[in-house]
Amino acid sequence: ADLYGVPTWNGGYFQIGAGGLMEVVTGERERVPLPDIIAELRERGVSLPLILRFPQILENRLERLNRAFAEAREKFGYESHYQGVFPIKVNQRRVVVETLAEAGARFRTGVEAGSKAELALCLVQDIHPEALLCCNGFKDDDFIRLALWGRRLGKNVVITLEKFTELARVLRISEEMGIRPALGLRYKLHAQGSGQWEDSGGDRAKFGLSTSEMLSVTQSLRERGMLDTLVMVHCHVGSQVTDIRKIRTAVREAAQTYVELRELGVEIRYLNVGGGLAVDYDGSKTSFYASANYGLQEYADTVVYTVLETCQQASVPHPVLVSESGRALTAHHALLVLPVIDVVGPTKTAVTLPPLEGEPHTLVADMRELLETLSVKNYREVFYDAASNKDTMHSLFDLGYLSITERAHVEELYNRILAKIARIIRDLDYVPDDFEDLPKLLADKYICNFSLFQSLPDHWAIGALFPIVPLSRLDEPPTRDATLVDITCDSDGKIEKFIDLRDVKATLRLHEVRKGEPYYLGVFLMGAYQDVLANAHNLFGRVNEAHVRVSEDGFTVERIVNGQKARRVIENMGYEAPQLRAWLFEEAEEARAEGRLSAEEAEALVATYNAELVGYTYLEDI
Ligand code: PLP
Repeated sequence: ADLYGVPTWNGGYFQIGAGGLMEVVTGERERVPLPDIIAELRERGVSLPLILRFPQILENRLERLNRAFAEAREKFGYESHYQGVFPIKVNQRRVVVETLAEAGARFRTGVEAGSKAELALCLVQDIHPEALLCCNGFKDDDFIRLALWGRRLGKNVVITLEKFTELARVLRISEEMGIRPALGLRYKLHAQGSGQWEDSGGDRAKFGLSTSEMLSVTQSLRERGMLDTLVMVHCHVGSQVTDIRKIRTAVREAAQTYVELRELGVEIRYLNVGGGLAVDYDGSKTSFYASANYGLQEYADTVVYTVLETCQQASVPHPVLVSESGRALTAHHALLVLPVIDVVGPTKTAVTLPPLEGEPHTLVADMRELLETLSVKNYREVFYDAASNKDTMHSLFDLGYLSITERAHVEELYNRILAKIARIIRDLDYVPDDFEDLPKLLADKYICNFSLFQSLPDHWAIGALFPIVPLSRLDEPPTRDATLVDITCDSDGKIEKFIDLRDVKATLRLHEVRKGEPYYLGVFLMGAYQDVLANAHNLFGRVNEAHVRVSEDGFTVERIVNGQKARRVIENMGYEAPQLRAWLFEEAEEARAEGRLSAEEAEALVATYNAELVGYTYLEDI
């Protein structure tokens, strides 16, 4: 059962329970087998694939983050407080934003908008009056206008200057509207993070002001008597910063910048250290890109202590600490449930080959002999001989010297030889380099009903890893090596990299799928960024989702959100469903008039088409 490393990455929210079923855990006695939830949803007619969301996990993440900062403040004697901001770009789904905004009221948790549309969402959230509403990203007049109106609504809106020229724009509009802004300065960190987003920091970063621009902003504001509007210093060292030392260096630079501005007479109130708090996706607790060599408490300790130390050296007041942690708040709350719909692979030949007539071709005879004599002593020679025979087979076939049946026999024998070699090397302590790819070559392809591009875009785009675990039969040793493929018509739609404590695995151990029995895989920790970066490749749309609350007595499905119907994804491409229906009807009428369809057939065709337009975009009834 430990094969999947559940205790190393689960964050305390998932475990393998009785009967080998994967469970969600939201409290000491609040746990439910995930297959029970899926069964209930299936009964209610919800099709798979689907996303299960647990708002309680979001609430718990928020509480843990705030508790970690509270503990750090107490431990080190920090004289101000922490109030986080949720950057909604990490997941703008309604349940996520509303749950965090609502649960965050007692921690003064705010929200961060990076665009006008995000600001529109943030402005209507019911957050604490002191909670921050940070406006980041490049801005036009309307963005600034809406942000300033937000101050009139009584929200603590801070407009972060991402580039120097934004100052003039903000000042012009605030004068026009007669609304005094509250400003933040994002400055270009010299420090860089670690991991896949390390370019977010450093001198060449996309966002932020240089030191001279920062000084120029303070000078301009001073001249206008508006220095008091500058309330926040902001930096962002990149997402998923895997090494705590990089966080420390960046925070140190941020704290020193705060101190310097204070010493120039700018009464900065908030020090915003941005995002970067990483999630340990592979459970290795290392600085590997899918992990982090620190946890929540160490993060909070590092931020609090570093700022405190820097402020003490300069005898300046401790700022309110702000972080824009998104990934760490949202990753754990959601999991994707994938049904395996078929298994194919080189060693899974379900067909019976037609027998060869007469004396077998020497190539076939040779391959049979290689298979019979293969052992741990000679597997390397056999491997090269078999590969060479396979090449010869292709040449002979192309020249017409080998029949298609003989070719099929050679292929089949080749696959059996490879499978036997794979079994041999599995028991060896050392695997020679040339055989490292063998398990992947021989792996079964588990075809799963989903689109990688819609549901796990970061795996496709940047090789992000997510823990993947069968949701049942975890008390039974899995016997197959598998890779996963999706149902898009794109050969990139596959998963061939899996988490591993030492490295990355090319295959995942899975169970033999039993006929007539569903086999579901859970993709965990996918609650950050995946919903948002999703794309409708092949017109596979958003998947069904259910929001579930767990109690000591079981669970409640709070809400089912239907995935996109075909019609929705088609309309996004500029078509209109009524027009499509009309065109199809015309075609059917024409076919009927020309005698290619009977009246009943035309009617059935139109009905099928119309039903499909309002159907789920994923495979059903299989
Ligand atoms: N703040 C800013 C300015 C960002 O660009 C990002 C994401 O890259 C975040 C916060 C969220 O970072 P994370 O998800 O690592 O917490």
